[in-house]
Amino acid sequence: MIPAEFQLEPLTSRTVIPPVLRIALPNKGRLAQDTRELFNDAGLEVRASSDRALKASLGADFEAIFVRAQDIPEFVSDGAADAGVTGLDLIAENRRGVVSRLDLGFGKCRLSMAAREESGVDDFCQLPPRSRVATAFPNITARFCAEAGLDLEIVPISGAAEIAPHLGIADVIVDLVSTGSTLKTNGLREIGTIMQSTAQLVVAENRTAWPAAKETALQELCTALESVTSARGQRYLMANVPRDRLDEVRQVLPGLNGPTVIDVLDGGRHVAVHAVVAASAIYRTIADLKAIGGEGILVTRIERLMR
Ligand code: AMP
Repeated sequence: MIPAEFQLEPLTSRTVIPPVLRIALPNKGRLAQDTRELFNDAGLEVRASSDRALKASLGADFEAIFVRAQDIPEFVSDGAADAGVTGLDLIAENRRGVVSRLDLGFGKCRLSMAAREESGVDDFCQLPPRSRVATAFPNITARFCAEAGLDLEIVPISGAAEIAPHLGIADVIVDLVSTGSTLKTNGLREIGTIMQSTAQLVVAENRTAWPAAKETALQELCTALESVTSARGQRYLMANVPRDRLDEVRQVLPGLNGPTVIDVLDGGRHVAVHAVVAASAIYRTIADLKAIGGEGILVTRIERLMR
């Protein structure tokens, strides 16, 4: 028999430590998959009992709840969740008291006004007064019209705006555009951009002071997510270059703090240079390095980058 002092206390609800931070994540739609991927890459693996679970654990300190992206500003401003991931478009439309703590970079799209191809309208300024605009974003559209001095009649709809001009419900629409293929398929053309949008990590605007542990957890969450989002657009490049051309290498490889230079054991003719380079500039950089005698060029992805 185990002596009393070594016996474990039975696991009861009394002994369960609640997660420090509850985060509302999109349950479906364009942002859901990318959000899960980002949290996984940041080491916060979503561990749910099933694909349709409403709640999941994200490591010891965090708990996820899955709700519709458009409801997330409300969940966060009401305190039902401490933080949330949702689109900037939905934050602007909801007008709930939330603020962005971090731009997560994915879910990139724009909210645009579009007219029928054959309408002859190229710009929203050409719209006749009292033109009707169908949109699931009536608040943003109303603000935009007021600021641009446009006198339009807003027709609120809940989805599939693209069909509205063809049904005679409206003259133009305001909807999200990513590649533009939905507009094209439906014979519509953009006549103005209202706003750009990406997914954001949000918290309540006027939250009462949080306990220190919660503040720390939020800070750690931001650091973990940001280290992944910062790394995504960057590559780690390594190359051997002639030592006597190092000045030219510095022009090609500015890196975060200039390239790291390491001796190569070939009698001092070459050095190895390592640097972080923008993914969009990688082809140019490789060509420039080759032009100054670079060899053995290696480019890898970066998992996390803390500036
Ligand atoms: P696309 O054909 O790529 O321009 O996508 C347009 C359609 O996808 C529209 O029905 C939009 O409502 C929707 N959409 C595009 N991007 C997003 C996004 N980031 N978040 C939510 N819906 C989006």
